[in-house]
Amino acid sequence: MASAETLARMKSVVGPKGFVDTEADMAPYLVERRDLYKGRAAAILKPASTEEVAALMRIAHETGTPVVPQGGNTGLVGGQIPFETGKEVVLSLQRMNRILALDTGNNTLTVEAGVTLAAAQAAARDADRLFPLSLASEGSCQIGGNLATNAGGTAVLHYGNARDLVLGLEVVLADGRIWSGLKGLRKDNTGYDLKQVFLGSEGTLGIITRAVLKLFPLPRAMATAFVAVPNVEAAVKLLRLADATTGGLVTSFELMPRIGIDFVVKHLPGATDPLKAPSPWYVLIELSAGNDSEGLAATLEALLGGAMEKSLVSDAAIAASEAQRAAFWRMRESMSDVQKMEGGSIKHDVSVPVSSVAEFIARATKAVEAALPGIRPVPFGHVGDGNIHFNLSQPVGADRAGYLARWDEMSAIVHGIVRDLGGSISAEHGIGRMKRDEIAETKSPVEMELMRALKHALDPKGILNPGKVLTAR
Ligand code: FAD
Repeated sequence: MASAETLARMKSVVGPKGFVDTEADMAPYLVERRDLYKGRAAAILKPASTEEVAALMRIAHETGTPVVPQGGNTGLVGGQIPFETGKEVVLSLQRMNRILALDTGNNTLTVEAGVTLAAAQAAARDADRLFPLSLASEGSCQIGGNLATNAGGTAVLHYGNARDLVLGLEVVLADGRIWSGLKGLRKDNTGYDLKQVFLGSEGTLGIITRAVLKLFPLPRAMATAFVAVPNVEAAVKLLRLADATTGGLVTSFELMPRIGIDFVVKHLPGATDPLKAPSPWYVLIELSAGNDSEGLAATLEALLGGAMEKSLVSDAAIAASEAQRAAFWRMRESMSDVQKMEGGSIKHDVSVPVSSVAEFIARATKAVEAALPGIRPVPFGHVGDGNIHFNLSQPVGADRAGYLARWDEMSAIVHGIVRDLGGSISAEHGIGRMKRDEIAETKSPVEMELMRALKHALDPKGILNPGKVLTAR
C-alpha cells in the first residue's frame, strides 16, 4: 500500500485537481465497462503534463508504488483496472488532452496521449485530412490507450493497425526518465525502432504521453453496401474479388451473421433489416476514393453484379445517402452491445489467416454447440483481417451466471481451434489480465524469455501495470 507520505508527495505534484481518493469519485476509474473487472486503488492521479507524469513516476520508482496507466477505460481485457488489493495507484491521462500541432505539409498530427480518438479524427478532418483509426469506442478511448493496445478496428484492411499509424512517441519510463522520440519521419533507419517496443505494451513498459500520428488524404467519395452472402467461404471469395476488381479501394469489409442482425433489429431502436429476405451471412463492404462518387458507386455495382453471377452474393443494398450509410454502420457497430440484451455473452477476439476464417467459424461453432447444446454463436467482425469476434450468447432461458461460469471451458475449446489454425488468441484487444495466463501456452519459451527480458530492462522494479500481460515476479 502506498504510504500516506507517498500519496501526499504525489498529490503535491498534481495538485488537488489531479488527485482523487474518495471512494465515490474513484469508482468510475475502478470498473471496466463490461463489469468483468472491479478493482481498488490508493488514489487516482491525473497529471496535466509530461513533467508531472515524470515526477509521479520518480516517486513511484523510489517508493516501489505500482502504477496502472489508464486512458479512456474502454479496454476489454482488464488492463486499465487495478487489482483488488488497493495497493496500486491509477494514473489517468485524461487531463493531457491537447492537440499540439498539425502539419499538413508532412501530413502529421501531434497530440497528447489523453486526446480522444474522436477528437484526433475531428482535428484531422478540419484540416481536410483523415486519421483512419476507427473503433466503436472512439468517443471515449484515447490515443494513448489506442497506441498502448495497438488498436485495430474497421479500417485496418486498408490503413493498418494503430502501430502503423504512428511516426513518433514520447514516453515516460518507469524510473521517471522521459524518452522523447517525437519525430515525424517516414524514414529513419538509425538503429532500433524504440517506439515499437511501447506500442501494444499495454502500459507495462512505459507511459505514452505524446504521439505524432500519420494523416492521409480525406476520401471524397465512399460507396457502401450491405450484402447478403450464402456462407463465409463466399464472403472471403467476395473480398478477394473486390481486391482484384477495385484496384485496392476496399477500406472496410465486415462480416455479420443472421442471428446478429436479428438481435440488432430486435433491440436497437430504429434499426430495420436492409434486405427483404433473410440470409445466413452478411458483409458490410465500403470502398473509398479521392474523388468521383459516381464512378465509385458504379465500381461497387459492377463488383456486386459480377459476384451475383458467381453466386457469391444473393442480394445487396447500396447506401443511397449518408444517412443510409450511417444506418448500415450503426448495425455493425451495435452488434456487440445488443448481445447484452440476450443474456450472458462469452467473448473471443481471435484471428486466423483470412483463408482459414470459414474453417475456423465452422469448426468452432460445431465444437461449442457440442459442448453446450442451445448455445448461440454470433461470430462477426473484421473478416478482411482474419479477425473474428467469436461471441457466444447463452442458450435462451439459461441462467446467466451459470452460463458465464463456463467462460474458461468455452475459451479453451475456441482457442484450441485458433491455435490449430496458426491463429492468435488476441487479435486486437490485447492480453491485459484476461488472457495473461494463456499467452504462455501460445508463445514459445524463447518468446516469453524475450518479453520478460524487455520488461526487466525497462521496469526493473516491476511497478508498471504489474500482473498485466505477464505474471508479476
Ligand atoms: P484503456 O482502456 O484506458 O487502457 C487500455 C490499456 O492501455 C491498459 O493496459 C492501460 O494500462 C494502457 N494505457 C492506456 N493509456 C496508456 C498510456 N497513455 N500509456 C501507456 N499505457 C496506457 N479495440 C480494437 O482494437 N478494435 C475495435 O474495433 C474495438 N472496438 C471496441 C468497441 C467498444 C464498444 C468498446 C467498449 C471497446 C472496443 N475496443 C476495440 C477496445 C478498446 O476501445 C481499445 O482497446 C482502445 O484502444 C483502448 O483505449 P483506452 O484509451 O480506452 O485505453
